[in-house]
Amino acid sequence: MNDAKTCPKCQQSMSRGFVADRAELYHLSLWVEGEPEVSSWKGLKVLPEKSLVIATYRCISCGFLESYAPR
Ligand SMILES: [Zn+2]
Repeated sequence: MNDAKTCPKCQQSMSRGFVADRAELYHLSLWVEGEPEVSSWKGLKVLPEKSLVIATYRCISCGFLESYAPR
């Protein structure tokens, strides 16, 4: 994946990062293929082979966020 991204809003360069959720610890957000399925003990069913870590780019000028789920 080409790491150089240009903001679609203001045409400035974007820097790569990720979106983290924090409860007591930080957690990575994943992209999961298909419809969400509730699991009684884990919240949602997430199979490792059906999920990808999300890369999020932030425009260095306006702050716009754009996400990708590269293999
Ligand atoms: Zn921008």
